[in-house]
Amino acid sequence: MSPELQKKLIDDHPELYRHELPFGIECGDGWFDLLDQLSSQLECLAGDIPKNSEHYPFATQVKSKFAFLCWYGENLTDEMEATIEEASQRSKVKCETCGKPGKVVQKKRWYVVCCEEHA
Ligand SMILES: [Zn+2]
Repeated sequence: MSPELQKKLIDDHPELYRHELPFGIECGDGWFDLLDQLSSQLECLAGDIPKNSEHYPFATQVKSKFAFLCWYGENLTDEMEATIEEASQRSKVKCETCGKPGKVVQKKRWYVVCCEEHA
């Protein structure tokens, strides 16, 4: 993901991304909205957990893997895990480059989600 969008995501959800991700956010810009929405949902589900608490959820790795979004974190409840799984399902039909509807295609050794234009 471009440095600008990564910064925006982290600035908008500072507690969730309080620990620097070693490889940054490893997916295309097309999934920004999906990640932004997922992050808001997780914040909502965190409910009464104080934002400065060590028990507040946070991301440890965010990446595209076999053409779907993987969001790994700590302090996640079952409900949060289910929400992350839903976001992963939605990523499978969203072009990773532009966010338009897409499908999984193989590019060299990688599987990625592409719309017709970016296939
Ligand atoms: Zn596209």
